[in-house]
Amino acid sequence: MNSLLIKNANVVFPDEVKLTSVLIGDGIISAIGYQGKADREIDAKGNYLLAGFIDIHVHGGGGADFMDATPEAFEIAVKSHLEHGTTTLLPTAMTAIESDLTDFLNAFKEFKSKSEYSALTPGVHLEGPYFSGANAKSSGAQPSGLLRLPDEAEMNRLLKVADGDILRWDAAPELEGSEMFARKCKENNIICSIAHSAATSEEAQKGIDNGFSHVTHFYNAVTTYRKEGQKVLAGVVEATYLNEDVTVELICDGRHIPRDILRLALKIKGAEKVAAITDGMRIAGTNMQNGKLGSLKNGTDVIVDDTVAKLPDMSSYAGSIATMDRCLKVLVKDYGINIVTASKMLSKAPSNILGFDNKGSIEIGKDADLVVFDNDFKLRNVIVKSFIQ
Ligand SMILES: [Zn+2]
Repeated sequence: MNSLLIKNANVVFPDEVKLTSVLIGDGIISAIGYQGKADREIDAKGNYLLAGFIDIHVHGGGGADFMDATPEAFEIAVKSHLEHGTTTLLPTAMTAIESDLTDFLNAFKEFKSKSEYSALTPGVHLEGPYFSGANAKSSGAQPSGLLRLPDEAEMNRLLKVADGDILRWDAAPELEGSEMFARKCKENNIICSIAHSAATSEEAQKGIDNGFSHVTHFYNAVTTYRKEGQKVLAGVVEATYLNEDVTVELICDGRHIPRDILRLALKIKGAEKVAAITDGMRIAGTNMQNGKLGSLKNGTDVIVDDTVAKLPDMSSYAGSIATMDRCLKVLVKDYGINIVTASKMLSKAPSNILGFDNKGSIEIGKDADLVVFDNDFKLRNVIVKSFIQ
């Protein structure tokens, strides 16, 4: 057996932080508190050892966007996030014309066939294109001219190209055809998620009854309490809270979500149902000050202002420039969330949402996807199961 011992680590377990050692055998966590010898050793010097981060919503990084649709772009972005502690991620496509989505899916296949980094990407996420263009609040930075109603024929073609690669797909539940959308997702074992929606709580509830089980960047580009004329309405947020099983994700860059909203979501849902995401775009993991959201060819220009990506007219945020290490720091240092809870949001919740039982926490039998952070939340080491020689 090929063994690696990480000793003197403040290990962040699902329920506590404890100074101990973790033994890895053939890429799997095989013992906790092991005192003996191993083939190799890492002295963590009292630093934190956490489960590797799982980002279920990320558009790119390191200067590349997955919509660039080349295997090289996929590798650049995946590598860039790995350097910031993300050991599993779902490359995310945004609203686009069908041929751009097909190119994205084909590039993912090519990436899988030739890059060792594809071990970090179990599948992809389609954010759109079946969203509401009802108002700027619901469309956000999605190209409003390309938003459309769920289209069964188009879905069939994309599903055929994807051949099982799509793990989650987002749509607005109030749109005509969303019932068909949810049914198709279910038939294909795809997590069906509410996003960019102008739904009332009743419409969102109908979507949930039809199979929508997750909410994309909760609070961003979805509805909540509002007054329209003489009517008061509840929205996606309230329907989500009323349905215990519905999971959510929050952009934890410290800009998209105020601290008390994060605390509220945690209080109502519990940390195992609230995934931290970056929604990171091309600029994430770089010092670039502007770039394109989406493909280089057809993307939307964005600028960086106050550590977040915005449309050039500042009318909307346009994804984040965060990486998961920044999310950890925001959660623990800026928002005062304890590290056990933060770790759940960064690893366990997304793992639960994807239905994985071999990742997301430091427990015997789980994959050795691990990250070491010092007390200033600076990343010191990344260990990935598939790269352990
Ligand atoms: Zn996104």
